[in-house]
Amino acid sequence: MAASMQVRGLIARETVQGEQDKRLTLICVDQGRVYVSAKGAKKQGARLASSTQIFTYGDFWMNHARSGWILQEAVPIEQFYPIRQDPEQMAWASWMLETALELTVEEQECNEMLRILLRGLQMITEPSLSPMTTASAFVLRALASTGVRPETERCVASGHRAEDPAFLSVEAGGLLCADCARRFADAVRIQPGTLYAMRYILSMDDTVLYKFQAEPQIRRELFEFVSRFLIQYLQREPRTLRYIRECFC
Ligand SMILES: [Zn+2]
Repeated sequence: MAASMQVRGLIARETVQGEQDKRLTLICVDQGRVYVSAKGAKKQGARLASSTQIFTYGDFWMNHARSGWILQEAVPIEQFYPIRQDPEQMAWASWMLETALELTVEEQECNEMLRILLRGLQMITEPSLSPMTTASAFVLRALASTGVRPETERCVASGHRAEDPAFLSVEAGGLLCADCARRFADAVRIQPGTLYAMRYILSMDDTVLYKFQAEPQIRRELFEFVSRFLIQYLQREPRTLRYIRECFC
């Protein structure tokens, strides 16, 4: 392994290590998930204190020691300060971050995931958009970018067209027609608009991915399906998602 490296990435997790150190988990453009220790970063006024906070995107220089990577220098590009001002926006953004981290592996580039994550974090504070929709859109698109994609074009079971009425089932893996929906206990009837929103999210260029408005019922149906789809894939409920359900849903 190289004795030193420079990475560009986002701090997705920070935990306290000992009295004064932090352990960071980064999502990096070229290296995927990277763990690094930031010595002294917990100390008031320390050189690395402000540049090693969660949600910091930037350039990081590190050396390899016996215990793993040790952070030498961090130069932030974007720290998403507005997200921290609002507990609800913070909760949705944290769900995005935890999902991204779960879907990232070590030593595997994740350029696309990071790109849609950074854009989504910018959109979370956009007053004209719903953070529930933005976070749901990110999670759906992030899952698709790792190959976990629900069927939204035709009924998964019969191949029939199913737009109105349309049903969604996590167990089936996506869209169902009315006939097939009877065979799946978790099938839920959805608005046609929810289906169109999912198709939009899965097909549009990431520059316009988050730029759509959805009615409250469509937002809700999108969130319900996407969160259950994520739970099935991970085989557990992310901690940040549980918090959202307890406090903001
Ligand atoms: Zn069918």
